[in-house]
Amino acid sequence: MKNIAVIGSGTMGNGIAHVFAQSGYQVNLIDISQEQLDKALGTIERNLDRLLAKERITQENKETTLGKITTHTDTEAARDADLVVEAATENEGIKLSIFKNLDAICKPETILASNTSSIPITKIGAATKRPEKVIGMHFMNPVPIMKLVEVINGKETSVDTTQKVMDLSKDLGKIPVEVNDFPGFVANRILMPMINEAILSLEEGVSGVEEIDTVMKIGMAHPMGPLQLADFIGLDVCLSIMEVLHEGFNNSKYAPSQVLQDLVKEGDLGVKSGQGFYAYEKGSKELKVAPQFSENSHAIENQ
Ligand code: NAD
Repeated sequence: MKNIAVIGSGTMGNGIAHVFAQSGYQVNLIDISQEQLDKALGTIERNLDRLLAKERITQENKETTLGKITTHTDTEAARDADLVVEAATENEGIKLSIFKNLDAICKPETILASNTSSIPITKIGAATKRPEKVIGMHFMNPVPIMKLVEVINGKETSVDTTQKVMDLSKDLGKIPVEVNDFPGFVANRILMPMINEAILSLEEGVSGVEEIDTVMKIGMAHPMGPLQLADFIGLDVCLSIMEVLHEGFNNSKYAPSQVLQDLVKEGDLGVKSGQGFYAYEKGSKELKVAPQFSENSHAIENQ
């Protein structure tokens, strides 16, 4: 595999393009928004500059990596790809139509992968005439730093497709783990109920925001508490994944907490909106417990 197309140039898409290009692959980065593509290139360059400053790459590596990425607003740019990694907005309708279109324009041997957090790979595969070549490639955020790739086999995914994607992930310096197509796969099935349980502990008055995060950081050696992590992921994303688990397993233990639902309804989505369980000031590294949760908590330092 030499030519990679990445569909969607948001948070995940720019990171995915970065790691492929840095490993020597030619990347066509595609988005419906030119503004997003420009922003993505800026982010990739800043991330490469950080690596350069730490002497992890040379100026030449940086230039070669940037030279391997071209940006496009037309999905036609995926025509010659050996592998397409789709990282567009988490919306089933959008993804199904992207895969139908890719199936029509790509070579028959092209592997079509999705970075979806929650949409069944089998369903995405069924939108194409090549379900054996459709697979999940679930990178973690931030992609250039996090080593894990969950490789998700849909019901029809062939052994050959899985093997190729496992090998390719290793070639990117990642550690791939094969999982089957169940709601939330492995990462979110375990992580999201933990976050939801932290919110329920807050809701029921077991403890305050920073106290809950401190218990998990100091007591369980987690680098970040679950409430701060929820703010980083985005509370809307956490809610939608809990809904997928709740519906997918039809089990009330996955019911999203009321506080999570209320915050999303109010537009308090975490870091991206400036407020979630903590309040985020632009340019400041200090975390302040958001006013609605501040009764028995104190400001803590971001680590
Ligand atoms: P994002 O909102 O930052 O970016 C999505 C991008 O897709 C936008 O730039 C948008 O313009 C583009 N887009 C929408 N429709 C398109 C289309 N038809 N063709 C091309 N581009 C299109 O989203 P994100 O956080 O990068 O998430 C992308 C995917 O990765 C989702 O499936 C999400 O579930 C998954 N994911 C996200 C995270 C995370 O922490 N953000 C982690 C793992 C997986």
